[in-house]
Amino acid sequence: MTEQEKKTLFSLTPAELANVLALKRGTDYWVKTIYQKLYHSGEFPSAALELRPDVARRLKNYEISWPQIKSLLRAPDGTVKWLIAYNDGAMVELVLMSYDKRHTVCVSTQCGCAMGCTFCATGKMGFKRHLNAGEIVMEVLIARQELAKKGAALTNVVFMGMGEPLANYEEVMRAAAIISSDIGLAIAPRHITISTAGLPAGIYRMAQEKAGYQLAVSLHSAIDSVREKLMPIAKTHNLESLLAACREYNSLTKRRVFFEYAVMAGINDSPKDIEALAAFIHRLNGHVNLLSWNKVDEVPFKSADTKRLLAIQAELEKRGVRALIRESRGAEIAAACGQLYAAAEQKQ
Ligand code: SF4
Repeated sequence: MTEQEKKTLFSLTPAELANVLALKRGTDYWVKTIYQKLYHSGEFPSAALELRPDVARRLKNYEISWPQIKSLLRAPDGTVKWLIAYNDGAMVELVLMSYDKRHTVCVSTQCGCAMGCTFCATGKMGFKRHLNAGEIVMEVLIARQELAKKGAALTNVVFMGMGEPLANYEEVMRAAAIISSDIGLAIAPRHITISTAGLPAGIYRMAQEKAGYQLAVSLHSAIDSVREKLMPIAKTHNLESLLAACREYNSLTKRRVFFEYAVMAGINDSPKDIEALAAFIHRLNGHVNLLSWNKVDEVPFKSADTKRLLAIQAELEKRGVRALIRESRGAEIAAACGQLYAAAEQKQ
């Protein structure tokens, strides 16, 4: 195996690491020791983990190699955004957002995205490649290290950056298992949110596996014809099929689904749109997160202001639907996913 073909050590769940080690005695001890060095040393672990020679030999096909930070931007509201590049040059973005005691990192799961949502900068890039679990875990570690400098701890992880998480199901779930493992990053499953543009097969699988992660569906319209214009995936999976999958998730996991609704002025904010949204949510008792769409260059849509969001929230409440307004973060540093990448590509 060449250096290029080595896998990152961060891609192994505790069970997988135990399989790779398969020592006659002390496997559990070494799994804990290696996890301790990887996730609890308080610093970025270096390539030299100082392991017993026979243990190190068993890990010869794995490596620790950190992505390069291509840009690092800090917004006045405390939001931090990175553009990072892995060994093969694939670049992704991650964003750290802080609200009082809650510190959330939003990670990418693919370089680019095949979903082609018309309002999204990443959608315009097309799909480049999936990230492996270790590459996703390293994004979380980068954010955690930034917080550690301020004496703060990471509390939440959302898989909502570049890419469609459920199109990279295995690696996303492997990363979530490492992040939530008691001996790993120990972030409780209920503080981990996995988003989707609406892939029913992945939602059914999540429902069956009952790992305890939150599910967030990017809805953006509860009218098929409008949603199809915003999200091409809606032509293959309409709202009825999405609803059926979400109901199954709801019933098997006993968790409510979060529906993200980015309000775009004149596109999805008419009284008819809001009425359809309320009717959709009533059919499965989900949560609505209203957010203002972050402007993307070359996309002719307009963001909605806070006044409009508050009016929509009131309209929904009148119809018995509780909606939270999610504050838009880091607008000054182009926090919508894919925008930093697009700027870097233009410079090249
Ligand atoms: S919004 Fe999400 S799913 Fe849609 S293109 Fe952008 S990254 Fe992909």
